[in-house]
Amino acid sequence: TKILIIFGTRPEAIKMAPLAKEFLKNTDLFDTKICVTAQHREMLDQVLQFFDITPDFDLDLMKPGQNLYGLTASIITNLQPVLENFSPDYVFVHGDTTTTMAGGIAAFYSGAKVCHIEAGLRTHNKRSPFPEEINRQVTSRIADYHFAPTTTSKENLLVENIAEDSIIVTGNTVIDALLESVEKVNQEPSPYIQEFSKTLGDKEMILVTGHRRENHGDGFIRICEALKAIALDNSDRLIVYPVHLNPNVQEPVKRILTEVPNVLLLAPLAYEDFIWMMNRSKLIITDSGGVQEEAPSLGKPVLVMRDTTERPEAVDAGTVILVGTDTDLIVSEALDLLNNPDRFDTMSRLHNPYGDGKACKRIVDFIGSLETVEKIS
Ligand code: UDP
Repeated sequence: TKILIIFGTRPEAIKMAPLAKEFLKNTDLFDTKICVTAQHREMLDQVLQFFDITPDFDLDLMKPGQNLYGLTASIITNLQPVLENFSPDYVFVHGDTTTTMAGGIAAFYSGAKVCHIEAGLRTHNKRSPFPEEINRQVTSRIADYHFAPTTTSKENLLVENIAEDSIIVTGNTVIDALLESVEKVNQEPSPYIQEFSKTLGDKEMILVTGHRRENHGDGFIRICEALKAIALDNSDRLIVYPVHLNPNVQEPVKRILTEVPNVLLLAPLAYEDFIWMMNRSKLIITDSGGVQEEAPSLGKPVLVMRDTTERPEAVDAGTVILVGTDTDLIVSEALDLLNNPDRFDTMSRLHNPYGDGKACKRIVDFIGSLETVEKIS
């Protein structure tokens, strides 16, 4: 059985790497190939290196100033020869990026069965997050098999009349990646982390990330003002902020935060260094989807700088608090958590609703079972 796994961005690579490895382990059943669009380049390559994955096809599509029209078109046209030459039985795409949606369409044209990992997340607001919500909705229309991380995501798909027997609840593969990596990273921190530890000493740290298009502009200005206020109020704590490469993020962050004492602006971190930072932090402030899923497995409370969320499980479980991009709310929730040990401890002990680290095995077993049924019948 031929499997093609397609991805293009850093978070997709992190979430698809353990799946690729699980398929690659089963060489007697599967001929597995990996295709990267390289919608992100540097950040993607770093993850591939950490997980020791060499793509069979590298479309290398990232271009300066790329827009969604050009990117979508080039993903579809560049996938045609890959799909026609390898002729996979199953094509796996992940989540909600342009690579997901365009990869799904190209796979459908090729006649392969389309498998969607992290299926069924919804905000039900087609413009927010843009373009992710539409990417995931379109992919759900195309996909033959929907690997939903939680029962909530399964419910979302059922409401859209997707056949129940095509939906498999697996947990999120990001937890597989995290649990596989965290021990190794703690035992053998990289030279970068060893150096960083000296700067940090025994200070508490607050880890920040942010990149979402919906926060570009005024949102990031309010976020930076909040971080500045938190930093000025917490001279004994360090705010560590690996800044995403997107210029819309870089500009306000560097303008507002460069001179602020006890704010450390860093380049985006290698995945293994980021995991170490998460594990070492007291509190995480982010607009990232993946970080919200990872943090509860490390017992870290998260403030989420978004107004809508496709991850209500985390809000319901109490592992994250939605604070939007309101400066005052970000500051007051952060200070309350930092200064209220009871609230902090309760939050850090909550169960992670996103899985147990066995999602990839469930996915591979499911595809294996389809093949067995086909052979018997
Ligand atoms: N991450 C990383 N380095 C960083 C920041 C994040 O490796 O400097 C990882 C993090 O562990 C998580 C993923 O990147 O798995 C999240 O990516 P991002 O926030 O870009 O995207 P989202 O999850 O919102 O789609």
